[in-house]
Amino acid sequence: MFHLLVIEDDPTIGATLESALRAAGYSVDWSRDGATGIESGRISEPDLVLLDVGLPDIDGLIVCREIRMLHPSAVIVLLTARREQIDIVAGLESGADDYLTKPFSLVELLARVRAHLRRSGPETAGSAGSTTLGSLSLNAAARRATVGGIEVQLRAREFDLLARLAREPGVAISREVIMADVWDENWFGSTKTLDVHVATLRRRLREAASAAGSDVIAALPEITTLRGHGYRLDGRGAA
Ligand code: CA
Repeated sequence: MFHLLVIEDDPTIGATLESALRAAGYSVDWSRDGATGIESGRISEPDLVLLDVGLPDIDGLIVCREIRMLHPSAVIVLLTARREQIDIVAGLESGADDYLTKPFSLVELLARVRAHLRRSGPETAGSAGSTTLGSLSLNAAARRATVGGIEVQLRAREFDLLARLAREPGVAISREVIMADVWDENWFGSTKTLDVHVATLRRRLREAASAAGSDVIAALPEITTLRGHGYRLDGRGAA
């Protein structure tokens, strides 16, 4: 059974989430402030965390970073009443995987939770296979990416994004297709999240390649931005 942690100070929203998620078959812990949420994250192994950004005691983004450090593979979904894009970017940079803007519908929330858990769950690992492109190797079964033998530390969504691009190297893939394949078909939010993930991915690949040496950097595939369309993964260093 998947274990979910809800960190939300609003009693109505918290109680609604708790009962709806339990009814959907998840085990749920509900923390009403940030300190309790971090403590609860410390003693349990949440598969997914629903985290309100506006908490009474600790900034939600600090809670997000704490939980991300405790559980690198947990899915963290921010619940935010703030619409400013800067907060969304800051949230994703704090380790969140996704966000929902309040007010959201329970149907939408449950669909999003299901999609995340399906993606991070063990059944996804069935799509085995390895891909090598220049100095980059992807192993879908192990969900590992290496550059010149150095492991690239990727979060679940970053790996999915890289694997999606690597499935069709040299092919232009539109933002809409990437969002549908890597996020989910009912994505209502801004596609800004895609650009943030691509930026992180580029940085992590470059860092791993730098650690591996200059010939590895030269053979590192590049994620090319196609203005007004999407992205393309280009191999380099091939004769
Ligand atoms: Ca709140």
